[in-house]
Amino acid sequence: MTKSSNQPLAGKKAIVFGVANERSLAWASAQQLADQGAEVALTYQGEALERRVRPLAEKINAKLIIPCDVTQESSIQAAFQQIQDQWGELSVLVHSIAFAQKEDLEGRFIDTSKSGFLKAMEISAYSLVELARQAEPLMKDQTDGSIVTMSYYGAEKVIPNYNVMGVAKATLEACVRYLAFDLGPRKIRVNAISAGPVKTLAAAGIRGFKGMLAEAQEKTPLKENIDASDVGALCAFLSGPGGRHITGSTYYVDSGAHIMGV
Ligand code: NAP
Repeated sequence: MTKSSNQPLAGKKAIVFGVANERSLAWASAQQLADQGAEVALTYQGEALERRVRPLAEKINAKLIIPCDVTQESSIQAAFQQIQDQWGELSVLVHSIAFAQKEDLEGRFIDTSKSGFLKAMEISAYSLVELARQAEPLMKDQTDGSIVTMSYYGAEKVIPNYNVMGVAKATLEACVRYLAFDLGPRKIRVNAISAGPVKTLAAAGIRGFKGMLAEAQEKTPLKENIDASDVGALCAFLSGPGGRHITGSTYYVDSGAHIMGV
């Protein structure tokens, strides 16, 4: 194998938002990006997470570890200022962030409070728009910038208890299309990965998640659950030369779950 086929992302600079721990889809993405040659920056939210993220960053030789709370505009701006100061450019942005109040991930969707609805939308969907807007000028000299976000099938079909997060994911997937249209002329591609269930911190907040895992295993054509590295692999592919003309879409990594009618 040639060096370029081993390291298709050599020379690229990638920022990954949403590493909470070693189970995070963001961490699997960061690992694959680094394995394929990219220099990676990680962001974290809060001191407790920094303690968990720092040892992970060392494993992939990530020097830039940046605090960022996407509900704070100043925090987002400070994060991108660091990228500007340290790198002066950016090739890849991974958005792997979501939040909904625990009480909005059970029971009836109709009971979602206005504040819970807006919070889920702000963190899980609008933040992609804000991060993309900040990334755009840093991707100016790129011929193939890539933005990847994480979605779930609850965006399209009703998944009991997923509730407001399903609505946020539907918005997120629509944001991907509009961002892809806006950023396409600058050769920045925007895509979503619709992942099957993976046991992570965020997933643990969804009532009945264990059942979702068991059902996915039983009902998918491949009869097995995915793991985070499957998501990381697609993230790296979409951000590399193979994804050169792929933009505006949602790609499933779900053992085929989305084709099933029952
Ligand atoms: P995770 O490890 O818990 O990652 C979620 C991340 O979002 C955490 O790092 C969390 O930080 C971060 N976050 C929440 N609020 C934030 C804020 N205000 N500012 C900055 N970061 C914030 O769980 P995950 O499963 O890997 O989730 C990553 C993405 O994949 C999410 O969009 C999720 O919906 C999606 N997804 C997950 C699955 C699954 O089954 N796991 C399936 C499909 C899609 P804190 O811990 O500090 O809140």
